[in-house]
Amino acid sequence: NETVSRNFIEQIIDKDLEEGHCKTVHTRFPPEPNGYLHIGHAKSILLNYGLAQEYGGKFNMRFDDTNPTKEKNEFVEAIKEDIKWLGADWEDRLFFASDYFDQMYECAVKLIRKGKAYVSDLTADEIREYRGTLTEPGKEDPSVGRSVEENLALFEDMKNGKFEDGTKVLRARIDMSSPNINMRDPVIYRVAHMTHHRTGDKWCIYPMYDFAHPIEDAIEGITHSICTLEFEDHRPLYDWVVRELEFENPPKQIEFAKLYLKNVVTGKRYIKKLVEEGIVDGWDDPRLVSIAALRRRGFTPESIKQFVELCGISKANSVTDYAMLEYCIREDLKLKRARMMAVLDPIKVIIDNYPEGQVEELTVVNNMENEALGTHTVPFCRELYIDREDFMEDPPKKYFRMFPGNEVRLMQAYFVKCVDYKKDENGKVVEIHCTYDPASKGGNSPDGRKVKGTIHWVPAPYAKKAEIRLYENIVDEELGVYNEDGSLNLNPNSLTILKECYVEPALADAKAYDSFQFVRQGYFCVDAKDSKEDALVFNRIVSLKSSYKL
Ligand code: ATP
Ligand code: MG
Ligand code: MG
Repeated sequence: NETVSRNFIEQIIDKDLEEGHCKTVHTRFPPEPNGYLHIGHAKSILLNYGLAQEYGGKFNMRFDDTNPTKEKNEFVEAIKEDIKWLGADWEDRLFFASDYFDQMYECAVKLIRKGKAYVSDLTADEIREYRGTLTEPGKEDPSVGRSVEENLALFEDMKNGKFEDGTKVLRARIDMSSPNINMRDPVIYRVAHMTHHRTGDKWCIYPMYDFAHPIEDAIEGITHSICTLEFEDHRPLYDWVVRELEFENPPKQIEFAKLYLKNVVTGKRYIKKLVEEGIVDGWDDPRLVSIAALRRRGFTPESIKQFVELCGISKANSVTDYAMLEYCIREDLKLKRARMMAVLDPIKVIIDNYPEGQVEELTVVNNMENEALGTHTVPFCRELYIDREDFMEDPPKKYFRMFPGNEVRLMQAYFVKCVDYKKDENGKVVEIHCTYDPASKGGNSPDGRKVKGTIHWVPAPYAKKAEIRLYENIVDEELGVYNEDGSLNLNPNSLTILKECYVEPALADAKAYDSFQFVRQGYFCVDAKDSKEDALVFNRIVSLKSSYKL
């Protein structure tokens, strides 16, 4: 039954359409261009875009750039790229709130004319003091009695730069004794002599968010203005603004719970701090959960879509495990990516009885569960590399990989038996000698002999040297995200760089954002920033195994 599974926002929209409150559905995503978007924003983007799609409506992309202090063009461009990548298509509906500054000014004048707004001389501190508390009503502003003419003249003077920052504000006249503090004559315009990233120095007054946002929505014909729970207490003000300004077909604000990831830094403010303090390599550092970082790490738009769908839409705050995001990317890549061999910590293996100079091209199936991905070849020869953890001089019981005297299978190739090994002066194993069984080609012996271990390898002369980066959470999960003083509990092991890795030669042409499964190691993605044609760099997206179950 479809109605049962509809989320609460769809239920509201269904009813609005049924009762004729609106004829179509028109949503928007309104980021402030003061930083990069993160996984939480992805939820909001996909929700708004998804609803427009579902109801055959429209979706607007709108930069909410009414506060020039922190806004930059760099962020505008990055945000556009991220939203496109996620697949949300605003077509020709890209807007900037700053394009409405003239209309917003006219709206403020309209309120003044109606006696619904007045210019105040109070400072920010005084306004806070006069506002009262939850248990105490506010005090009237001494400027409240100003005439309409006086207010119009003063507001024009504000616009014309006659006042210093912070000396005058325009307040909506609502109710100083309202139980909702947001309704106690909220400030709707302030003086700020600042250069705006788009309007330059045209304006020295700027509208406040609670005033600007409903106007932006109303101008664009938004039917459902979806935001997060912290704006619930602002809804009466939102409704007041659209009502007093007499907009036809007023938009409706609906709040849902933010996405929170357990022990993960999401707030723009904190990500920005990590970037500015140089703790991470920019907004797209693969340890972050900004959309740019997730893309660089190797996440796909499909995996993020799947993730936000699993999270669901709710009115109640909850915390989601990062493991669920990992589950989604594994599920997405499982059938889509080729499985390749990579050696992260190499030891040289020499097959003593394999003819010197001989090379065989072995054909390997790319993805055993998806034939459509075809095959590739890997050369096999006398000298190989295997991973250090696949050899032990003196193994415990139940160790089935390579050790002196033991026979193992080299994946896709032959049975080999370790006959000798060499160490350097520090006792580190540097070379392993084996013999191979030519009859076991393909990994099975005609005499039915069984081996318990299968290990991966790369051909030493042909393998490509690569750098591989392994990641852990950037914060220490034992300690939690924040210290008592609000600083972050950083995990010193969040990044491990392995510089001497070797990958199959078939990976030589791998390009930025290409991703692969590396046998037993996980899924990896070519780093878009640092990888070069002859110096490949891979990021581990996620390891293969997890205890996470849906
Ligand atoms: P942050 O709080 O992380 O700094 P923000 O809310 O300041 O982000 P905006 O650019 O103002 O960022 O947000 C754009 C839209 O994204 C808003 O509608 C906001 O409610 C929504 N949004 C922000 N964070 C989340 C989140 N964690 N989950 C869902 N939606 C979010
Ligand atoms: Mg913000
Ligand atoms: Mg916020």
